[in-house]
Amino acid sequence: MPTTTHLLDQLVSLTGIRDLELLEVSLLKTLNDFIHPTELALYKVSNRGEVRSQIEFEDGQCRVIREQFVVHPELQELFKREEKPEGGSAQISVPGGLLSVMTLLQSRATITYLVINTPDGMNPMNANMMEGMLQIYRNFCQLLQESQTDSLTGLANRKTFDECFSRVYELQPFDDDSTPVAVEKRKSSPATTYWLAMIDIDHFKSVNDRFGHLYGDEVLILMAHLLRSALRNDDLVFRFGGEEFVLMIRCQGRAEATGLLERLRRSVEVQDIPQVGHVTISIGATEMVRNTFAGTLLDYADKALYYSKQNGRNRLTFFEDMVSEGLAVREAPQSGDVDFF
Ligand code: GH3
Ligand code: MG
Ligand code: MG
Repeated sequence: MPTTTHLLDQLVSLTGIRDLELLEVSLLKTLNDFIHPTELALYKVSNRGEVRSQIEFEDGQCRVIREQFVVHPELQELFKREEKPEGGSAQISVPGGLLSVMTLLQSRATITYLVINTPDGMNPMNANMMEGMLQIYRNFCQLLQESQTDSLTGLANRKTFDECFSRVYELQPFDDDSTPVAVEKRKSSPATTYWLAMIDIDHFKSVNDRFGHLYGDEVLILMAHLLRSALRNDDLVFRFGGEEFVLMIRCQGRAEATGLLERLRRSVEVQDIPQVGHVTISIGATEMVRNTFAGTLLDYADKALYYSKQNGRNRLTFFEDMVSEGLAVREAPQSGDVDFF
């Protein structure tokens, strides 16, 4: 039987975590210790009821699933329903169990559901304990989320970039399976690569100068929206500084990266912005190869961006092309164990 001290200990260790995905994993582990359900999972679901990602607790460990989700049809039906569960929770019967479904977090685009299968129902003490714990968890997540996002655009901020950098490294397809806390279940083709792209709005100062800072802000918000909608769910977008954005995208090689970034550049170019008219972006990109420091990769992307700026703007440059044309050189391979990619 879990004691109050044990519960407090668990909460203390939960709130010591400064990373949302790790926090989710820890929450599942803690709930498993206290409740021992037959199934335990978190689902991130879009407004339209489509599952975007799933964290499943099974055999003492968590798996992050980003495709080929395992969802009870009854649960899928609940996700699709227009009206959300009253009071944020619902119970549904499924073959072999009783699912308690709770809304854990809700943002503009996504709802996170916690799903617990306890075939004999949950005893009231556990239910109470869990409700209290989830409330603390929600408050904490909100604080954490606020500290990780840029308040104007809602994108992840620069500080979060550094944390995500090593996360992407963990998800590299040729990783051995033993290290990450959350092992991703994904059929990774050996050609899967990650690309870093740095984006800067062209002549943005003149937008502010001509229309005022508020219109400039509107352009930044619109830009964030265009970036998010051009990318896939597990691509990452950061607002890096004033009018600079950084992307980390997963692609099957250079051609796909080019296609995606060119589409993005074009979607900005053709966008009609009320009052302001049109703006364009310049992009510099590079492959996130291993054995390269985060700072070095950013520097490569920045050099490619600078080249785009110097050569007409509204264009995409790959650092790799600059190297092959003799316009840039790679740094010598580095060794050590910090900040590596
Ligand atoms: P380039 O094509 O060379 O990138 O030219 P630019 O004018 O975009 O570049 P520059 O670096 O000279 O100017 C960036 C401007 O971005 C200056 C600054 O006032 C503006 N800016 C930075 N952050 C914000 C913000 O949060 N809101 C608004 N409205 N403007 C911002
Ligand atoms: Mg700039
Ligand atoms: Mg600019």
